[in-house]
Amino acid sequence: MQHRRRGTVLDLRRENRVVVLQSLYFSRPGSRQDLSAATGLSVASVTKVVRELLDEGIVTEVGWEDSDGGRPRVLLDINPDYGYVIGVDIGETRIRVDLFDLTMTERAKAEFPLDPAEHEVDEVVRDIASGLTAVLADGGIDPAAVLGVGIGVPGIVEQGPEVLVHGQTYRWDAVPLERLLRDHTALPLRFENCAKTMGQAELWGCAGRCTRNTAVVLIGSGVGASLISCCSTCQGTTSSAAEWGHTTVVLEGRRCRCGSAGCLEAYVGAEAILDRFGSPAVASAEDEESMLAELIAAADSSPAADAVLAKTAEYLGIGIGNLINLFNPERVILGGWAGLLLGARLLPAIRESARRNSLRHLFAAASIELGQLGPEAVTFGAATLPMEDFLNGACRPPLRSRRAAPAMQRRFES
Ligand SMILES: [Zn+2]
Repeated sequence: MQHRRRGTVLDLRRENRVVVLQSLYFSRPGSRQDLSAATGLSVASVTKVVRELLDEGIVTEVGWEDSDGGRPRVLLDINPDYGYVIGVDIGETRIRVDLFDLTMTERAKAEFPLDPAEHEVDEVVRDIASGLTAVLADGGIDPAAVLGVGIGVPGIVEQGPEVLVHGQTYRWDAVPLERLLRDHTALPLRFENCAKTMGQAELWGCAGRCTRNTAVVLIGSGVGASLISCCSTCQGTTSSAAEWGHTTVVLEGRRCRCGSAGCLEAYVGAEAILDRFGSPAVASAEDEESMLAELIAAADSSPAADAVLAKTAEYLGIGIGNLINLFNPERVILGGWAGLLLGARLLPAIRESARRNSLRHLFAAASIELGQLGPEAVTFGAATLPMEDFLNGACRPPLRSRRAAPAMQRRFES
C-alpha cells in the first residue's frame, strides 16, 4: 500500500510538471499566477513545479509584470538554449534539415537538391547525415544538447521494432531507414510521413488549443494529406491513413507513379501538371519549382497554360470535395510548395470546384485556406515530434545543455 501511494504522488508530480510546462510553453511569458489560473493548480503547486524547472534550466525568469496595485509578479519564460531539436524533410526534390532551439526558433538550416527521378537510398542517407553535421556546426551546438531529430518521409512509415519506409512512387520497398541512419548518428530519431508532419505543424500553430477536424493537404511533386481530429493525427491500421494522392478521380485515367491509373496525384502533383502542359522532363528540384512558377505566371497571356491550371483547380476541388464528404472537416488547409504556388492563384476556383463536388451541408461547414507556414512546414512539423516528447515528459533530458541562460535573482517565489 505504501508503495502504491508513493507511486500515485510521483504520478501526480509528473502530471503537474507536464501541465505547467505545456501551459507556459504555449502562452509565454507568464507568471506563476497566470499558470495557476490556466492549469487549475494552486499557486503553491505551480511554484513547486516552477522551482524544479528553474533549477534544471528549462525555464528562466525574464522580468516582472504589475499586478493591479499588488507587488510585481515575476515573469517566466522558456530557456531557448536548454536543448535543441532538428527537423528533416525528405522531399521529392530536395532534402532540407533545420535546427531549432527549445522555443522552435530556427537556428541553422541546410539543403541538398535531389533529382526528382532518383531517390537512391544511400544518397538520401548520406545527405541527411551531412545535413545534421552542417546544422550543428553552423549553429555552434554540441550534439549532446539535441533532444531528438524528427524526419518527414514522402511515403508510408511502418512504425515497429524497426522503422520501415514504403515509398511506392520512388521504389522504396521496406527501406530500414532508421538502421541505415544509425551508422551516421546516435541522436534519437522519430519518423513520420511528410503530410502528417505538416499536419503536426498546423496543430502546433494552434498553440495547444484543440483543433477539431482539420484536413491538411500537401502538394509538391506528389500529393498527400493528413487528417487531424481533436488534436491527434488519424493513423489508420498501418500508420498509412490519408494516402489521398492515390485515390482515383478519373476512370482509366493518366498513369500514376504508384502504378495505378487515374490517381489524383497524376493530375495535380507538380510533375503531373508540367507533364499535362507538355513541359520537358525536369532535371532538378529548382527546374520543377521554377517551371511550375513560370506556368502559373504565363496563364495571364497563354490560353494553354490557363486551361491546364483551370483543369488542375477542377481536379483539386474534386479531391477536396471527396475529403469534405468523407471527413466533414471544419478546415481544409492547402500547403506544400506547389500547393502554395497554385493556391495563390487558384484558391477561388478550387473552392468553387469543391463546392460543386461535395454535399451542400458539409461544404458549408468547411473553410478552405492556404497554409500559413510556408515550404518549411514539413521540417518544422518533423522537429515538433521530439519537442512534443520533451513537453510530455517522454524524452530524456539533453546530455549537456549548452549556454544555459542565467536566471534572474529569484526575489519572488509566488
Ligand atoms: Zn497513384
